[in-house]
Amino acid sequence: MNRFEFNEAFAVSLDAADPLQGFRKQFLVPEKNGKQRMYFLGNSLGLQPKSTATAINTILQHWADEGVESFFAGESPWLDLHNALLEPLSVIAGAKPSELSVMNQLTVNIHLMLVSFYRPIGKRKKILVESKAFPSDQYAIHSFLQHLGLDPLEILVEVNAGSENLAMRNEDIVHAIESHADELALVFLGGINYYTGQLLDMEQISKASRDAGAMVGFDLAHAMGNVKLSLHEWEIDFACWCSYKYLNGGPGAVAAVFVHERHHADKTLKRLTGWWGYDKAERFAMKNRFVPEPDATGWQLSTPSILLYACLKSSLDIFTQAGWTTILAKQEKMMDWLSSLINDLGSEHFECLTPDARGCQVSLLFKEKGREVYDLLFEKGFMVDWREPNVIRLAPVPLYNTFTEVWHFYSALKAIIFEVYATDKPIQA
Ligand SMILES: *Cc1c(COP(=O)(O)O)cnc(C)c1O
Repeated sequence: MNRFEFNEAFAVSLDAADPLQGFRKQFLVPEKNGKQRMYFLGNSLGLQPKSTATAINTILQHWADEGVESFFAGESPWLDLHNALLEPLSVIAGAKPSELSVMNQLTVNIHLMLVSFYRPIGKRKKILVESKAFPSDQYAIHSFLQHLGLDPLEILVEVNAGSENLAMRNEDIVHAIESHADELALVFLGGINYYTGQLLDMEQISKASRDAGAMVGFDLAHAMGNVKLSLHEWEIDFACWCSYKYLNGGPGAVAAVFVHERHHADKTLKRLTGWWGYDKAERFAMKNRFVPEPDATGWQLSTPSILLYACLKSSLDIFTQAGWTTILAKQEKMMDWLSSLINDLGSEHFECLTPDARGCQVSLLFKEKGREVYDLLFEKGFMVDWREPNVIRLAPVPLYNTFTEVWHFYSALKAIIFEVYATDKPIQA
């Protein structure tokens, strides 16, 4: 039984019942000829909150008024900005504020986390990764291993799904961890795969890794601000993510890491250090020997970009206002709506690569002419994502997308499919 009716009036009624319907107005939606586009690219670059410009200007004004004193003076001294980010972020990450550090960019942080959490000992030196990891993650790990004088081919154990377009099975990952148990030093996977949109069972994978005696870390670029996470409870060792996708922090936004509290006091962990990770109480005493902050901020290196902190703060404030549980509830409903509509389009011309375990993103693999479909969608005002060879990815997000937009996507895709494939002979199996 489908609880949805497939018509526009029903979509409108879903929007009318949406507790978050007012939040779209807090964002700047791209327009074409004075008409708002249908933006389904929150998985790539989240939309700009209207409050971000004000937040930036406030920092600029503070700088103008007080110069370097701004770090310490005024209503919100720059030195306190990091703390102000931790509380809202901890809700989304399912972590203690002390386990988070907002710093650098994602790929930089992958390197920093590898320095701390890749601890090869004797035979236990392998790293379990996914064969279809985001390229930057692969480049980071390869170059990191080469820097250590190790051969990536000898160190990496790649799990794959059998075919690059399939989702992986959690059981296969767990099985791979178990069968390499005595030689695994680290498991490092994307919490949500950027290509298929698959959400991994991070709790199960974390437990299997611990049981195997390996460290476990996740790249959460596609998960943070998208799905419910309990990083602390799942006892994940570390995680890192960027803030410009679902977190709407702006292009090149400041990234963040999670380091489980059980590692904070571990003096045997190696790390690359800088003065901003120095114990706050004594940071400005300019001592010679490094003493880390006794929490995740001990991994900081440099004076943070206050402008980027302000951008992220303005976005996280919207998450706080909306309420994380309310956001997640709408996400689930909107994705059920999208899935039902997509199912209605049948499987003749495309298949959905995304399994039921997922966040906002759906990836559609077209059998042919995917690019034509994409171009027509774009012409009609839909902003979705194109991936070679034939994949269209889209991600309606709860803070600014509507049920009606999803309906329009379905109607447009239905019409486009009719137009593009109408003159074709039936596709041979
Ligand atoms: C978006 C994304 C990146 C991008 O890394 P940057 O350092 O922010 O450019 C890396 N890894 C994954 C899994 C991503 O989804």
